[in-house]
Amino acid sequence: MNAWWAMARELTSPFTLGLIAFCVAGALLYASRRRRWARASRPSSSPFPPLADPFARGFDLLLDSRWPEAIALLKETVRKDPDRVLEYLELGKLFRRRDDPRRAARLFEQVLVRQELGRDERVMALYELGLSYHAMGLPEHAVKTLEQGLQLMPAHSEARRELRRIYEEMGQWGKAVAVERVRLKRGEATNAQTLAALRTQQAKVACAAGKLRDSTAHLRAALALDPDCTEAMLVLGRLLLRQGKPRRALRVWNSLMQRRPEFLYLTFRDMQTAFRAVKSDVEWESFLRRFIERYPHDPTGQLALAEWHETHGRASDAVACLQRALEVDPLCREAHLALLALYREQDMASDVLTAYERLVQSATWLSCARFRCRACGYRSDDPFWKCPACAVWTTPYRVMPPPSSVALTAGDVGPSRSAASPDAVPVVVARPAPAESQSES
Ligand SMILES: [Zn+2]
Repeated sequence: MNAWWAMARELTSPFTLGLIAFCVAGALLYASRRRRWARASRPSSSPFPPLADPFARGFDLLLDSRWPEAIALLKETVRKDPDRVLEYLELGKLFRRRDDPRRAARLFEQVLVRQELGRDERVMALYELGLSYHAMGLPEHAVKTLEQGLQLMPAHSEARRELRRIYEEMGQWGKAVAVERVRLKRGEATNAQTLAALRTQQAKVACAAGKLRDSTAHLRAALALDPDCTEAMLVLGRLLLRQGKPRRALRVWNSLMQRRPEFLYLTFRDMQTAFRAVKSDVEWESFLRRFIERYPHDPTGQLALAEWHETHGRASDAVACLQRALEVDPLCREAHLALLALYREQDMASDVLTAYERLVQSATWLSCARFRCRACGYRSDDPFWKCPACAVWTTPYRVMPPPSSVALTAGDVGPSRSAASPDAVPVVVARPAPAESQSES
């Protein structure tokens, strides 16, 4: 009993109690540290790597478009700690965007010399260096650098797109085609329109070199990829005519009329030649009348018919056609100029003629064909197949006069109404503005 009592006294002594308290505190501290280490070693739920403070601050400044402050901050950071990489890359990007690609390229080259650079950082530096070389007007260097990056990371879709664009600028259409094929295969391009446009450029180069068979093959391939490829239809029709195959050319233009009638006017001169070869000049006039019946809101039909009347000495019919073109599109510059030329030849009172001439010269008439990029809304009086503003390969849409302005029927389109098909129904061709669906690409 005494032994038990002695042990109890020993256990409750201040020394033992202190020792127990120390051990419990130690255990609690160890457990809390362990939890903290476990938390730290767990992968972060954020998709972004933890940012160094200066980088985050620099990024905030960039978001606020405070470029000079961001540059100053990043410069100071890399000066204090030259081992930083993200800050270097961000600083380089800033230089490139601020039109100093030479300085940007130097920075990226310095970063790429580092042996310890991770793969992602190396790929990012190569991509940015490629863009900087491109901006410096060194496309060969840019191509080599982007290809190096793609070897390290084949899934870098932006690098591949830039590579294709640089090949386009260099006129290396075969290589651009090869890159675009890979983009399609990998799902980086969602449709074959760009590939069809590139095959069309290959065709034009082959045609200029006199390789007509190759050119035709490229154009057929382009149309197999994209049956709406307007430029391919235009070039193929002209090529077939040049090869002495007007019937086949007319078949291609017929397809163009079915698919993109608003672009048919671009072939009118060639079509007239083909009509003369296959049918007759009068058939051409009949065709134009049918075109006007079907597409009454397209003034180009009236313009072509006016020209036909004029060449056949029927000035008053020509004037009537031009006046109808102006009813459809009152601002049509081509119709005003042609009308003025015809009035000059007629016995019109000189004061009226002078007034009209002054009006035609001073007014800001628009071309009867006006085009807009589907992707960015860029406008031009001339059709374009690659948008000069956004560099997307696209057939623009033609802005047509509003359908309510006129409703012509067969009886309205000129004196020789017998030539027109009696059962023709006027069709409005103003195509609805397509959805902004260009995938580019
Ligand atoms: Zn555009």
